[in-house]
Amino acid sequence: MANANLLQAQVSSISPVYSGEVPQYQLSYTTASETGSELYDIVVFATPLQASVRSGVQFQGFTPAFEELPGNYHSTVATIVHGYLNTSFFGFPDPRLFPFASVLTTETLDLFFNSVASVCPVNISTGFRRKQPQEAGVYKVFSPQPLDKAQLKTLFRSYYSVQVTEWQAYPCYGSSQALSPVELHPNLYYLNGIELAGSAMEMSSVAAKNIALLAYHRWNRQTDMVDQKDLMHRIKTEL
Ligand SMILES: Cc1cc2nc3c(=O)[nH]c(=O)nc-3n(C[C@H](O)[C@H](O)[C@H](O)COP(=O)(O)OP(=O)(O)OC[C@H]3O[C@@H](n4cnc5c(N)ncnc54)[C@H](O)[C@@H]3O)c2cc1C
Repeated sequence: MANANLLQAQVSSISPVYSGEVPQYQLSYTTASETGSELYDIVVFATPLQASVRSGVQFQGFTPAFEELPGNYHSTVATIVHGYLNTSFFGFPDPRLFPFASVLTTETLDLFFNSVASVCPVNISTGFRRKQPQEAGVYKVFSPQPLDKAQLKTLFRSYYSVQVTEWQAYPCYGSSQALSPVELHPNLYYLNGIELAGSAMEMSSVAAKNIALLAYHRWNRQTDMVDQKDLMHRIKTEL
């Protein structure tokens, strides 16, 4: 067993504490019942640190001062609707003839939505059948802005419920931006820089594994295991 202690808390600040060769980190946090502070040898940030995402973490006492990570996150509104899809809007007056589970779009200035997709439960029971377009189903709409009533009535003939969540979904991508550093400071790591290469759960898992290995090797001073020049060659030869 890892003997780990999980603390469910909102981290409000981090500051380096110099007593030995390498800094430790003082983290201040708030739980549901108290505020507290704890000293750590290794810290991994696993949330975007760009200002627009508002992680709420203050970097205090870093020399040089910790600079905000460049770039912005793209805002996407997810609207979950339980209702009847207006298939006429997509060119199918008879919903029974509508053959699609998802409608995806490409960026068009006047278009108020990015996609509409029928949603299935996460755990599909035996005998599960996707709702047909003539039946009331659950749909997920992604859009750049919250949908107003007229837009909802355009996409749905009628609906029972609507839930809206605005996400800072993924970085604004460009062809010339650099990746964020993985090591922000000695033994202080940053996971979400990988989202600049691709924003998906698998990417975060890959970054997490790499950072765990890197932190382990750095902590144990196994420098020969870091940035191994012939690694790609050896992996290919093994295959
Ligand atoms: C609408 C939408 C749809 C998506 N669809 C897919 C998909 O279909 N497939 C896919 O692979 N990926 C999808 N993604 C991307 C996927 O959600 C992300 O790649 C993934 O969640 C990143 O995981 P993460 O753990 O790095 O970060 P996050 O999931 O963002 O987790 C960061 C965590 O840090 C916590 N946190 C933030 N600040 C603090 C603080 N100060 N103190 C303590 N905790 C803090 C947050 O509460 C959060 O729990 C989608 C994303 C969005 C927004």
